[in-house]
Amino acid sequence: MKKTFPREITIIYGLKNKAYHIKLLEARGKSAGPTVWLVAGIHGEEVGGVATAREIMKQLSRKGLERGAVYAIPGANPTAISVKARSIPESNEDLNRSFPGKKNGSLGKRIAEQIFSIITETKPNIVLDLHNDWIASIPYTLIDPYPGLRRRKAFLAAEKIANETGFVVVHEEEETEGASWRKTLSGSLLSRGIPAITLELGGAFTVNKTNVKAGVAAIWNVLASLKMVNPRDTKPLFQTPPLFAGATLTYSGEPKIKTKGTVRFLACPGDIVKPKQIIAEVIDAKRKIRETVKAKYTGVVLGNADTTSAYPGFEAFAFAAVKK
Ligand SMILES: [Zn+2]
Repeated sequence: MKKTFPREITIIYGLKNKAYHIKLLEARGKSAGPTVWLVAGIHGEEVGGVATAREIMKQLSRKGLERGAVYAIPGANPTAISVKARSIPESNEDLNRSFPGKKNGSLGKRIAEQIFSIITETKPNIVLDLHNDWIASIPYTLIDPYPGLRRRKAFLAAEKIANETGFVVVHEEEETEGASWRKTLSGSLLSRGIPAITLELGGAFTVNKTNVKAGVAAIWNVLASLKMVNPRDTKPLFQTPPLFAGATLTYSGEPKIKTKGTVRFLACPGDIVKPKQIIAEVIDAKRKIRETVKAKYTGVVLGNADTTSAYPGFEAFAFAAVKK
């Protein structure tokens, strides 16, 4: 790492050589130690993560870091953040499907390449990518699929840190369409041997103070586990229910809705459900029940979908499920 840490990443793009600026923040410890990265706002509507990254950097600048360094990109997709859009407005790309990026590629690939290279240059101990989810969802920690024997060390390190957050730790499904997780920031880092995890910090679009507080507590726990800050006795608000201690929880969108209609949710974010438990009903325009939705696995409800208009194949719930 160069002695002076840059204050921003600049990407020149397009026929008119427009400049795209991405701000960088840093907090340096009193002595050498681990390197941690925080990235937020890769999806522009996920403003809670942006607020969380800013808040923790503010606290670190006030209270100081005991050792090591924390670097942050609090707004990785600034023009998308300014309009609360998921994709990059200029190129309509999902930045979190553009990693590890490409130097002379599309705007999204170029932004990704710059972010990816500045992070990897510092050889971080952990990269925390902050996101937000459905409006009705609890914060949780997501870990990408096992990237293979060669990356075992990084995966185990990421898993260990994930457990330090105090949130429910959810393993990503391996068979997602086209293994798209490999093109995410965390997935592409992990498959190159750099420990990385994703924190889903509650609902998108608005800054929810409770979720920001929970996110700050989770990140503080991670930094304390690396002896970079003094531990606080604040516990994250959404911990793994004791029932699941030691169990591997996997992300699940099942059961999917089979009929058309309006969903009436009977299980809420944070609820524990058992197989065959009734978790929702689908009603038609005449308020007649067309479908009774039952849980497939034992698990925790992570979120209820933002819309209640269902159709066959609709995923009304996200679960952290015990699949084995
Ligand atoms: Zn996201």
